[in-house]
Amino acid sequence: MSAAPANEPTFRQSVDLMFNRAVALVNLSPGLEEKIRVCNATYTVRFGVRLRGGIQTFTGYRSVHSEHMEPVKGGIRFAPSVNQDEVEALAALMTYKCALVEAPFGGSKGGLCIDPRDYDDHELELITRRFAYELIKRDLINPSQNVPAPDMGTGEREMAWIADQYARMNTTDINARACVTGKPLNAGGIAGRVEATGRGVEYALREFFRHPEDVAAAGLSGTLDGKRVIVQGLGNVGYHAAKFLSEEDGAIITGIIERDGALFDPAGLDVDKVRDWMVTNGGLTGYPDAGHTADGGAVMEAECDILIPAALEGVINLTNAHNIRAPLILEAANGPITAGADDILRARGKVIIPDLFANAGGVTVSYFEWVKNLSHIRFGRMQRRQEEARHELVVGELERLDLAMGDTWNLDPRFKEKYLRGAGELELVRSGLDDTMRTAYQSMREVWHGREDVTDLRTAAFIVAIDRVASSYRAKGL
Ligand code: GLU
Repeated sequence: MSAAPANEPTFRQSVDLMFNRAVALVNLSPGLEEKIRVCNATYTVRFGVRLRGGIQTFTGYRSVHSEHMEPVKGGIRFAPSVNQDEVEALAALMTYKCALVEAPFGGSKGGLCIDPRDYDDHELELITRRFAYELIKRDLINPSQNVPAPDMGTGEREMAWIADQYARMNTTDINARACVTGKPLNAGGIAGRVEATGRGVEYALREFFRHPEDVAAAGLSGTLDGKRVIVQGLGNVGYHAAKFLSEEDGAIITGIIERDGALFDPAGLDVDKVRDWMVTNGGLTGYPDAGHTADGGAVMEAECDILIPAALEGVINLTNAHNIRAPLILEAANGPITAGADDILRARGKVIIPDLFANAGGVTVSYFEWVKNLSHIRFGRMQRRQEEARHELVVGELERLDLAMGDTWNLDPRFKEKYLRGAGELELVRSGLDDTMRTAYQSMREVWHGREDVTDLRTAAFIVAIDRVASSYRAKGL
């Protein structure tokens, strides 16, 4: 569902407009530009499920944007507003996102027109399995061809149903678990996947703030510590981003915007408390510890240092782009800024950390999960104790030297504890994610600062992605 007004281009057109701006600056062989831009195929399925004494018909999509690398990758969204245009826009973004963070996938996306809140668990399982069945039998879910993941309205539970459905239909496929990512840990998932997109947002901002020149371009200075942040959407991505930024980086979450309005507190909101309230009460209304306003739009336009739209596409559009006060905007959602709003914000000197980079933490950790499933072994299982044994050797030797010198210095016990601990799966996932976000940011900023014709991070991100997709096609001889 786009929150943009009807007089703006559609979401897919908006993504294409941003692509066009960038591709105009890339030297591609004739025809290749069009080949990259278009969506290869979109499959629409209508299927019936026997529910509540009758048959209900559902409509779902799986769109494949680019198969320059396979499998193709991208989430499955459950929302009443899902439509072909949206799924295609999201699939295109997946292509560019994967290229930018060097996840070896093409782009895809799926959606089911459904409001999951209208169904109980058992009904949702029937519907999800039936949708999965339709996609699996056409290889639109397959470990080597098309690997879905969670998106809006779906999570670990739906991914476990999909994985099980695939395994039932492919009883001899030893790689069955790699057919979908974002599964629960006990069903072939990986540590750190649930919070991965939010964690990626944190790593993205940390890297941005490592470059004083970039921070200055947004009219800011210093570090993340003390920065005022407004988050729109306290779902999985917004919640984890806000939690990590406030708990670990010293950022102050001054505003949280949700469906039923917003909370605002210049002294900072307690993210976990707000989330607990929301889960119990279904919204922010009535939250006792901060001022609530029904006018969420006003809080989007409030003064802050960093605005993080983390829910729907199109929330910053022609109606409000002129009023946004945040100097730095990080797109944790896919497509939260329309192409028209992007023009306005750029003209106003705002710095935008674009979605194809900023929310790539999810697919990055999905990539690790897929590799884990294919290798059939948990990350760190072989090395962890060996690493610990080697560290023990070093610490033991240091302690021996200390004794030999007459016990003149002592190792800090916290150093010892930290140094001795070998990395488990979660530490390795975080390290891989951090490295990915840093490297991707650096590749974008090189183009941003290195070329006179590039004045924003989004165009830079698209240029890096387009270059990589194009060389993949060239290598294939296309
Ligand atoms: N749905 C997420 C996204 O938009 C994750 C996709 C994935 O992990 O494949 O990036």
